[in-house]
Amino acid sequence: MDTATATATVSRPPWEHAVVTGGAGFVGSHLCTALLDQGASVTCVDDFCTGSAENVAHLTGRPGFTLLQADVTKPFEVGRAAGLVLHFASPASPSDYLRLPLHTLETGSLGTRNALALAHRDGARFILASTSEVYGDPQQHPQNERYWGNVNPVGPRSVYDEAKRFGEALTVAVAAERGTDTGIVRLFNTYGPRMRGYDGRAVPTFVRQALAGEPLTVTGDGLQTRSLAYVDDTVRGILAMAASDLRGPVNLGNPAEITMLELARTVISLAGSRSAVGFIDRPTDDPAVRCPDITLARGKLQWEPRVDAVEGLARTIAWFRERQNG
Ligand code: NAD
Repeated sequence: MDTATATATVSRPPWEHAVVTGGAGFVGSHLCTALLDQGASVTCVDDFCTGSAENVAHLTGRPGFTLLQADVTKPFEVGRAAGLVLHFASPASPSDYLRLPLHTLETGSLGTRNALALAHRDGARFILASTSEVYGDPQQHPQNERYWGNVNPVGPRSVYDEAKRFGEALTVAVAAERGTDTGIVRLFNTYGPRMRGYDGRAVPTFVRQALAGEPLTVTGDGLQTRSLAYVDDTVRGILAMAASDLRGPVNLGNPAEITMLELARTVISLAGSRSAVGFIDRPTDDPAVRCPDITLARGKLQWEPRVDAVEGLARTIAWFRERQNG
């Protein structure tokens, strides 16, 4: 069977009740907002290991929003049946998953199992947040969903990459054996407001450094590329996937590639900063290139990014600046 197109529709929007694991994180908090805007009630489940209640403070008191502090590696209850389960819980930045290696593996395995069980019990649509990191240091460029990846299973990044690969395998197996209505999205680097300045990812690091007038720490020679998607585009793609009957995996990312050096220079210019660019060592197993082939998302979800790097970075810088001043 074509795993990208698959069968089955159990529940479709408008959802009465959606569960977002990792909802108090960067992407999850934007998902909670978008789902509430669509008229769903939302239970955000989070253990705050990398996220915070502050990320959803704007939703507290909004009708239909519930914040539940729970670790999804243990079975959890949300009180009422869900029509949609978005499983986004997982440390995501390298500095977080290197600090929390076992929790990352357990969230990708036990956490995915528990979120799948909840979706199965309620007959809900389930979406797994997977990642471009399943492609590792890719030998195929750009990466389409048929590429199996080049991951070092015992390297320092493996706790994240392999947790996500296992999560994908588990999702596919549960769909096949139990008939759960599942979909997998592979997110490429996403950035925007509510990232943490010290989470180690390039955009928030550069923005924080540029606003402080400090040198921007580019790793290696800065010629490695990433493709950066603005969070509003990513959220729109995730919700399109949720509304579809695709099983995936489906890549969601912005195919416009940028080198880290170009990114640093663009941030400096948009922030009106006097910062210089400095070079530091590149982390082990850091991929040299990363660019999504989004043919599948374009064709099946009618989705593509709308926000270019200049606009998205300007919005992100404005958010960081506002927080700095507030
Ligand atoms: P984030 O760290 O801001 O958010 C993750 C959230 O999950 C946090 O609020 C954290 O507290 C919560 N969490 C982690 N383990 C948990 C557990 N066991 N129980 C309950 N909550 C738990 O990261 P993000 O960038 O928002 O990423 C969200 C999801 O999207 C992750 O699954 C990540 O792998 C995936 N993803 C993100 C990107 C990106 O560029 N941001 C790219 C690819 C994939």
